[in-house]
Amino acid sequence: MDQFERLSQLPLRDDLRGQHPYGAPQLDVPVLLNVNENTFGVPADAKEAIISAVAAELDGLNRYPDREFTVLRQELAAYLDHGLTEDNLWAANGSNEVLQQLLQAFGGPGRSVLSFPPTYSMYPLLASGTGSSYIAGQRAADFSLSAESAAEQVREHAPNIVLLCSPNNPTGTALGLDVVKAVYEAGEASQAIVIVDEAYTEFSHTGTPSALDLLPGRPRLVVSRTMSKAFAMAGARLGYMAAAPEVADALRLVRLPYHLSAITQAAAVAALRNSTSLLANVEAIKVQRDRIVTELLELGLTPAPSDSNFVFFGGLENPSEVWEALLAQGVLIRDVGIPGHLRVTAGTEAETSAFLTGLRAILGA
Ligand SMILES: *Cc1c(COP(=O)(O)O)cnc(C)c1O
Repeated sequence: MDQFERLSQLPLRDDLRGQHPYGAPQLDVPVLLNVNENTFGVPADAKEAIISAVAAELDGLNRYPDREFTVLRQELAAYLDHGLTEDNLWAANGSNEVLQQLLQAFGGPGRSVLSFPPTYSMYPLLASGTGSSYIAGQRAADFSLSAESAAEQVREHAPNIVLLCSPNNPTGTALGLDVVKAVYEAGEASQAIVIVDEAYTEFSHTGTPSALDLLPGRPRLVVSRTMSKAFAMAGARLGYMAAAPEVADALRLVRLPYHLSAITQAAAVAALRNSTSLLANVEAIKVQRDRIVTELLELGLTPAPSDSNFVFFGGLENPSEVWEALLAQGVLIRDVGIPGHLRVTAGTEAETSAFLTGLRAILGA
């Protein structure tokens, strides 16, 4: 009996039967460009600040942490700099947990979540985990999403929650605020909570606006962010959202008590107080991102415009063969299962060169 047969003999919820867990491969290869991490490490000064902040917590580790993580919410509000206060902020162990809490509070059995694939592969899993039904909306053939089309689909499906990913993963492109506004207005009828997942926003081209600009006067709008990407802290697990204070109050009803450990809170606060240092490599990553787009075009491939730290590209006859051949050269990128396409994270200059050199050799260019 294999593991899946054994699992199927357990009294698992019917809606979880036959499902597979999220699982980008975690392989031990020299060049890891598959899950959009910041491949630069934490800079030395930020590391020291985090070490002392965490060390200072150890004496009190016998006590539960501040359940309200007030200092962290204050630091997050200051970082976002949009006239927000700690009452507008909420955090959890990664933005995935924030999204899960949002679905627990506003989704659930008998309720629906709409998003627009290809988009973040966790959205349908979060829907199923919370017993919400998942509605896959449509994009144009070039993967773009216009305000008119998005609004029409919201009116048609009347979802309880809409998840917009901007910049979108896996395509990399940011949405205009016109799309967010139109979706919010179209969601009026079903009182939809509109979540804009801005996990990659720090990598956007200068002048790309954030949905944070739209928060005033929109109590059903939520902007989700993370320290996993630009902040180079994927291992620390800290995601957060900004919204009207009553949205944070809704999440207080579903969060586990003390969900953010004292160590997590201390590390995140220290990181935010050193954000200039932690974010210093964002510009270097954007240079490599733009270099990937330019060089893929030269190879005759079709990269999508990217406002993130990764590039989604098409024009491949056999993406899984290319993925395998790159892996054989020690370069791990992502096959997101879209015909003709692959996705690669922009790394350091050396990592990016390893990818581009490898790809050129494979394509015989
Ligand atoms: C990486 C990513 C996140 C971040 O998840 P964390 O739980 O904060 O690490 C969120 N949304 C999208 C679209 C992502 O690609």
